[in-house]
Amino acid sequence: MPRGKCRVCGREAEYWVPWANAWFCHDHFIEYYDKRVRRVWEKYFPRGHRKVLVAVSGGKDSVALLYSISKLLGDSGLYYHALFIDLGIPGYSRESLRIVEKNAGRLDIEVEVARLSDYGFTMEDVYRLVRARRIRRPVCSICGMVKRYLMNRYAYEHGYDLVLTGHNLDDMIGFTLSSIVSGRIEDLVKLKPYVEGSGNLVARGKPILFMYGVENKWYVEAVDAEIVGGQCPFRAGESSINVELRDAVLAADKKHPGLAILMARNIVDKLIPRIRAPEKKLKSCSVCGYPSSTDPCGFCRLRERVSALLSSQE
Ligand SMILES: [Zn+2]
Ligand SMILES: [Zn+2]
Repeated sequence: MPRGKCRVCGREAEYWVPWANAWFCHDHFIEYYDKRVRRVWEKYFPRGHRKVLVAVSGGKDSVALLYSISKLLGDSGLYYHALFIDLGIPGYSRESLRIVEKNAGRLDIEVEVARLSDYGFTMEDVYRLVRARRIRRPVCSICGMVKRYLMNRYAYEHGYDLVLTGHNLDDMIGFTLSSIVSGRIEDLVKLKPYVEGSGNLVARGKPILFMYGVENKWYVEAVDAEIVGGQCPFRAGESSINVELRDAVLAADKKHPGLAILMARNIVDKLIPRIRAPEKKLKSCSVCGYPSSTDPCGFCRLRERVSALLSSQE
């Protein structure tokens, strides 16, 4: 397709955005993206939050989130910092933190760091134990649980009342379809753009839930941000059903631009409100006191198991 002119200013355009049926120059792509994020914020996020943590891993999605949301949070006069979770992945964690600090520095945002090693182990320990088959659960699924736990605990202990994460549209579609395939319909409730907090469970939100992965890539390019180059060295060759279902929808989206956004909107606005999730009373973990559906919570069980295995190896 020959390069067109920006829909807004008529100058030479950089980005063809099929679901907007429009070309945009750098500046107007940024504006278009920011407006969509702002609409999600205004529609789904209640007023009244005061201290916000933006979780940033250094990947394209969370870096795009940080740049875009910082304008909005700044305009609203909210107190906000970035949060990096140091999982102790050799080389990778340090490089990711460097990139997060560099971007946050450009935006004049302070970075706080939650360290897994403060709890006596790292994801490197977990990875070794999974490889040795002493722990039988995929390393990425353990990592996801650990990140959610640290994010919430750090936010709560430091007085934050909202944590924002960079989940994107592509992941949301994959998660939705695989939840339907496996019958875990009530899991879809987790996809709400905003989930309120209570007690020591801090409210969470996903302001870029309706942004395609590729849009986040364009956005970090357009704002000239640096992102983490390689992928996590512990990541297993991903061939889950999530990915295949996601790719099928994204392929259909190529022929019917915007189909994935429409699907995601309908999931959030029409499907989720009709799901009557069984009253899953969260208990308090008897070890750490944080909410969990099991007692002890997944994190405390992992911590216990890793420390037992590590001391038995010595
Ligand atoms: Zn323009
Ligand atoms: Zn616990």
